[in-house]
Amino acid sequence: MNVGGQSEDLGVQGAPESGRSAELQLGAIRRLGRAERELGAPVHGHSLARHYATGQPVRVAWNDGVITGVEPAPAAPADAPWVAPALVDLQVNGFAGVDFQQDDLTLDQLLIAVRGLRAAGCGRFLLTLITDDWARLLARLRHVRAVRSTCAELRHAIAGWHVEGPFLSTKPGYCGAHDPRWMRDPTEEHIRELRQCTEGDPVLLTLAPERDGALEAMRLGSSLGIKVSLGHTDASLEILQRAVAAGAVAFTHLGNGCPRELDRHDNILWRVFDLLRPPGVGLRVSLIPDEIHVSPALFRLAHRELGDSIFLVSDAMAAAGAPPGRYPLGRLELEVGSDRVVRFPGSSNFAGSALRPDEGVLCATRMLGCGWQKVWNQFSEVPASLMNLPAGLAVGAPANLCLIKPVGDTLSVETLCGPKAPSLQGKT
Ligand SMILES: [Zn+2]
Repeated sequence: MNVGGQSEDLGVQGAPESGRSAELQLGAIRRLGRAERELGAPVHGHSLARHYATGQPVRVAWNDGVITGVEPAPAAPADAPWVAPALVDLQVNGFAGVDFQQDDLTLDQLLIAVRGLRAAGCGRFLLTLITDDWARLLARLRHVRAVRSTCAELRHAIAGWHVEGPFLSTKPGYCGAHDPRWMRDPTEEHIRELRQCTEGDPVLLTLAPERDGALEAMRLGSSLGIKVSLGHTDASLEILQRAVAAGAVAFTHLGNGCPRELDRHDNILWRVFDLLRPPGVGLRVSLIPDEIHVSPALFRLAHRELGDSIFLVSDAMAAAGAPPGRYPLGRLELEVGSDRVVRFPGSSNFAGSALRPDEGVLCATRMLGCGWQKVWNQFSEVPASLMNLPAGLAVGAPANLCLIKPVGDTLSVETLCGPKAPSLQGKT
């Protein structure tokens, strides 16, 4: 690894001691002290490592944030790390104690969250804003976008925006943690406002297609480059089919955004499975792999039925990467216990997750009974491709890399990603 032109071969020297390495202990809860450190990808460097997909030794080189070489190497040391694209999380509501649903997020707060995510293997993500008064939601989006524009590290890490609501189902159970008071039918004006507010940024919009005007809004959104995902919905199969025809490209956190108890004969899960039964229906489906939001049995069943359509998201809120306690999610205060389940206080309903992305990989691995390499793409290249974000280990791709070492049943992950960062100013 080169930082400022000085060479260091990670593959030979083993795990770096730079402070970027994040040792992951499943179930362990750690404060993100490392978020206080100055982080940033080296300007240029190389690593001798094992390719995450092939297992073959490779020499990966990068310069100025771009991969400049991926060449077979004759051999790698026994303790050489694996190299893989950094994780890409399309649904992050907050992280490391920082709630993105606040009106006046500061640069330092965003840097703490970005660095916490990077320490968890995630190099880029969609900052997610949930249902609120539409004008207030847009004001929040404009504000955080303005803060992002002042900092190269934030521009790199916050790849775009996931707007989840307010065009969702108000039915009990389907609304989840979203406040039905602020929900409404989408109009073409909403879509144009969203596009205008975000300019050319990648945008993922989750909506319920059964709402009046949703199909027209989806057609307009798609024509304006907004990716539409279906979620928090109890739409019929026919409406789901019409939504796909209108441009929907994804389904948000299948198995959540619906009541805990469903009709065994006909429910939104069966309809989505049925919807994707014919080959060629180009809908991606996200799952939250924390062994809580989706049971291991359903997780395996979804993989058998939906296969390559699946990608993983954390749906993390502020408690992710932070200790148990009470945390805000917009106007709500939620409780996270030692079991890492996020609940309304005194309720059994889930509301967001406390999942770190690297934990998600290991949880998925455990549920599927496979190696972490098998699920890594579901949390990196697959979501990146959905949003047309460049990814992968190829010459010319961004040097968003993870160097990974298995440590027992955990992973030690170092993320090399993004430009050199400023120091925190201490104003959070
Ligand atoms: Zn949701």
